[in-house]
Amino acid sequence: MEALRRADEFKSILLSGVSHDLRSPLTAIKAAVQSLRDDTVAWTREDRSNFLAVIEGETDRLTATVQNLLEMSRLEGGAVKPRLEPIEVEPLLEEIALASSRTTPGRTLRVDAPAGLWLQADYGLLAQALHNLVENAAKYSKPGGGIVLGAENRAGRVTLFVTDEGPGIPERDLPHIFEKFYRGEHQGKIKGAGLGLAIVRAMVELIGGRVSVESSEKGARFSIDLPASAGPRP
Ligand code: ADP
Repeated sequence: MEALRRADEFKSILLSGVSHDLRSPLTAIKAAVQSLRDDTVAWTREDRSNFLAVIEGETDRLTATVQNLLEMSRLEGGAVKPRLEPIEVEPLLEEIALASSRTTPGRTLRVDAPAGLWLQADYGLLAQALHNLVENAAKYSKPGGGIVLGAENRAGRVTLFVTDEGPGIPERDLPHIFEKFYRGEHQGKIKGAGLGLAIVRAMVELIGGRVSVESSEKGARFSIDLPASAGPRP
């Protein structure tokens, strides 16, 4: 019943929240294709290349939104079953940093984790959550701004964190940024559907963790708190 209720709630929020993010790329793609097919106009090579760039960019945007929607609905519908296992923190963070350096070129990402630290989580879900946080850190700060992917160990818990040197998050946005479809008011040209952090929260809660955010004039810091583990069973 609870899963059904949540799926229903998701559908209504989906309709109100996402229609713009689905429609606006489709409109742009359709307009670019129509222009390209219009043989009453002698488009230059550059014009054509610009239209194709619009089609490519908007298709990527649409694909990302649809992927996020499917992921969110799988998470909310109870279709994702976590498999908890001991995970060594430092190699995990190194792997995320390597994968993220491919999607965020030109960024210096530093890993700062004590060696030999282990936690308990589902590898795939935790990796995806961290990846989303690193992508946001790059997306909302300027090229050249440092990003740290780190870990701390305290009283049987491990805190993983992602810090950036961006503008931080205004006080009025802080209570809402993990909500579905919520976007900060200052975003201007930075595009997104407001689903990245909602997916992070759903994934982290599914593996028994908690995600939080702090912000200062130095930048934003997102933390994921999880149970520590003694390491692999002998
Ligand atoms: P999106 O990026 O599509 O807007 P998210 O759910 O990933 O959606 O983020 C929600 C909002 O949180 C963003 O619109 C932005 O205002 C804010 N935000 C997220 N990460 C950061 C960050 N590292 N620095 C500043 N603001 C951020």
